[in-house]
Amino acid sequence: MRRENDMVDHKDLAQLQAQVEELRDIISIMPGHIYWLDRHNIFRGCNIEQAKSAKLASPNDIIGKTNYDMLWKEQAASLDAINLQVMETGTPYSCEEIALMATGVRTYLSQKVPIKNQKGEIIGLLGISVDITDRKLMEQELREAKEKAEEANQVKTEFIRNMEHDIRTPMCGILGVATYVKTKVEGQLQELLSDVEVSSNELLEYFNNILEFSQINSDIAPLIMDSISIKDIVDSVCRMELSAAKNKNLELIVSYATEIPSLLISNKFRIHRALLNLVSNAIKFTDKGYVKMMLRVELQAEDKALLSISVEDTGIGIPVTDRTIIFDKFTRGDLSNRGIYKGTGLGLWIVKQFMTELGGTVSLTSEINKGSIFTLSIPVSIPTLERHSHDNNN
Ligand code: ADP
Repeated sequence: MRRENDMVDHKDLAQLQAQVEELRDIISIMPGHIYWLDRHNIFRGCNIEQAKSAKLASPNDIIGKTNYDMLWKEQAASLDAINLQVMETGTPYSCEEIALMATGVRTYLSQKVPIKNQKGEIIGLLGISVDITDRKLMEQELREAKEKAEEANQVKTEFIRNMEHDIRTPMCGILGVATYVKTKVEGQLQELLSDVEVSSNELLEYFNNILEFSQINSDIAPLIMDSISIKDIVDSVCRMELSAAKNKNLELIVSYATEIPSLLISNKFRIHRALLNLVSNAIKFTDKGYVKMMLRVELQAEDKALLSISVEDTGIGIPVTDRTIIFDKFTRGDLSNRGIYKGTGLGLWIVKQFMTELGGTVSLTSEINKGSIFTLSIPVSIPTLERHSHDNNN
């Protein structure tokens, strides 16, 4: 009977021992740094990674040592203090630690938890530390790169502001003088001044496109919603594009399909630039016929309306395959690419961006060799005073 019990005990013990060894093997190869200490901050064991980074031949060599015996003895006092705090309060602790290891100074994300016996008494501490040195370095590099990019962006913004003043202003001056002197002279001189006018306009258009490209998504052109006169915008676009249309013998027509409130609430700058881009494209891609702006305002709710502005031309038209891509930045149609028509490929992209900012859309219908119609649909508000006068007029 006794012999039988002895045999059972031996079997259980062997099994238990095998289990313990299996667990020890698992712990010793676990990634990260694993170590455990007793209540007196004396190491009772660790895994292979921890032993390696402490320059110990095997995990067993750590047993009986304290933080003061290790490579990181400089930090021993603060490490011990944290460990004692965890063991006294029983509250797990998570922190970043910097320590001198075999591979140099490393940063760790450490988690420390109290070890309890079966009675619930705290008998030591288990620590798991993950090396985050490379991640910290990357974070630092990213932070520095972001700061540099922000600085560069600021320099770009200032450069654009200066360009706006230093280039656009004299260009407008040249254009104004050429237009004025043209009316005072005749013959060849007048033709030459027309060339100056056309070239200055082209340069100004290039410049405006590049400038606006840089301004989109920056703080240079804030989206301020204000009372605006659509008719004034249309008049200004006509004034700016009249000589280009005349030079190509094109008719520039404006038609109002509905009554247009004298004031609407939207963003003047964006509508003006979008319309200007569409009209100057229409003139550029049309050799005979007309360019027509058609406007309508449809009331939707008490103070809401939809403003539609279509720009129709009798020009070369746009192939179906190009009708989506031409709205991408730096993308141009086939003929433009072949150098027949000049441009940057930015105009329609700017139009699309501005429409998105205003909550509107730009759409296109076209027929090859017959012409194209670009339509801006912009939700607008109607100012209170304007609504009353509109009601009275009806
Ligand atoms: P750009 O005119 O500077 O090339 P845009 O973005 O304004 O750039 O236009 C992109 C392309 O769309 C043009 O190159 C042209 O191929 C086509 N396009 C734009 N408007 C018209 C139009 N009214 N008629 C024919 N093609 C047009």
